Amino acid sequence: MKYEKLTEKLTQYMDAGFPILYLNTFEEKLAMEILEKAARNAGRTDLVQWSLTGGYSRYSLQKREYVVPPSGCSFTKLAELVDFEEYDRSLFVIRDVSAVLEDAAAVAYLKELAIRISTDTECSIVLLSPVLKIPKELENLVTILEMDYLTEEDIRENIRTFCREQSVTVSQQLLHEMAVGFRGLTDSEITGILSLALSEDGELTRKDMALIFEQKQQKIRKSGILEMVPLKERLEDIGGLEVLKEWLKRRAAVMKDLGRAERYGVDAPRGVLIAGVPGCGKSLSAKAAADLFQVPLLRMDMGRLLGKYVGESEENMRRALALAEAVSPCVLWVDEMEKAFSGISGNSGGAEVTTRLFGNFLTWLQEKKAPVFVVATANDITRLPPEFLRKGRFDEIYYVGLPGTAERRRIFEIHVNKRRPGDAGAIDWDRLVKETGGYSGADIESVVRDSIESAFVAGREGVTTEDMLVSIRQTHSLSEIMKEPIEQMEKIYERNKFKNASR
Ligand code: ADP
Repeated sequence: MKYEKLTEKLTQYMDAGFPILYLNTFEEKLAMEILEKAARNAGRTDLVQWSLTGGYSRYSLQKREYVVPPSGCSFTKLAELVDFEEYDRSLFVIRDVSAVLEDAAAVAYLKELAIRISTDTECSIVLLSPVLKIPKELENLVTILEMDYLTEEDIRENIRTFCREQSVTVSQQLLHEMAVGFRGLTDSEITGILSLALSEDGELTRKDMALIFEQKQQKIRKSGILEMVPLKERLEDIGGLEVLKEWLKRRAAVMKDLGRAERYGVDAPRGVLIAGVPGCGKSLSAKAAADLFQVPLLRMDMGRLLGKYVGESEENMRRALALAEAVSPCVLWVDEMEKAFSGISGNSGGAEVTTRLFGNFLTWLQEKKAPVFVVATANDITRLPPEFLRKGRFDEIYYVGLPGTAERRRIFEIHVNKRRPGDAGAIDWDRLVKETGGYSGADIESVVRDSIESAFVAGREGVTTEDMLVSIRQTHSLSEIMKEPIEQMEKIYERNKFKNASR
């Protein structure tokens, strides 16, 4: 049965007399079906509903009919309308919760109801909403629940049902690929995407995978907590960082064959922290890792997780991690990790939240069962709390420094070959490398980009070493701009014995 876990949990919470349950979901129709089932399991007699458009109604679960049909009424009016004693053993479902919770009188009424439920009735209130927003007054009375993500088998069943209803067929192989592609999406999203794919040409084929991917990307972005990053970069696009690249290749062998690796006795890869100088290929490595593992890349922006309501940040983090698990196998890229944790040692309320968030993240990292490979990147490791750097949290911690001579040469070659492969033969790489000590990978990329633009504007056939030398002279290298912080950081890396990504 689908959503078995959620139905069971709801039943248990109702049995145990939890006064307010907050069901956080976009799938209202489905949620109502689940709630009705759970209410029956918990022996509730009536389903009392309120919504902005439908107003108030009361449905008898035994007679399966309305005792009071939907009739418009404001939420606060409900307080006068409903004699609470008479509603013992009912389930109250309040929809359009965000509108209700804006109103102080409505919040006060909810609170009163909740307190009465805790003391002398067997009722429960479920708040149903796609956004999570709990006023401080209700904080202690509310328990948050979330729809489970669909299992791959559920998704396969959805696709089969859709195909039956639409009289189309898909091969077993495509069914499997689609089911993997749809992981992390809800029932109605899946049906929506399938309908869209079918309406284009009347059939479901492998070329619809691109549509699935694109739609999924949008849905994940809309969730506001994670972003699905398109994979363009490959391992070969990284100049240098050979040690890190070799390490990633080993992980790829495990990630691509997880079941067998685990049976063999190999630990499931947890993830890696890549720290170091900005513009030297940390993000590039996160992207290339996902490409190498052949799994989607989800980016988590810590700054965006921080919410303004009580518990919102933790809830966002929980949702983000649950979504990553649902989409797994995947790479979860936690970008510029230190940004979120920078206030951690301060004593403002914000620091408290980040400390908790950070604790939640570490616990999850330690205990996660799903194949989510974490790539955390950080420019300034001094702003990360020491627990983070302790051995065993991540599989490994790598330090990325400014590229050495051989690495700079590779980076020049990569970027010239990307844009003007025909010009590469005549370039004096040694000259360029000699003139660019202290330049980051990003600096080198911008030298190549600018010199190609100059060559174009000057109307020349191709870009030359000379164009690049001019551009080098005009560029302030990173080490010029950040000499001291870089030196300081290097000392810290050495002291902590982090592995060097390059050698
Ligand atoms: P960060 O270390 O700050 O995450 P990025 O990986 O985003 O830096 O690098 C920024 C850009 O600089 C990349 O998109 C890439 O074009 C270039 N770059 C940086 N390092 C390298 C490298 N080692 N090899 C090739 N390109 C690089």
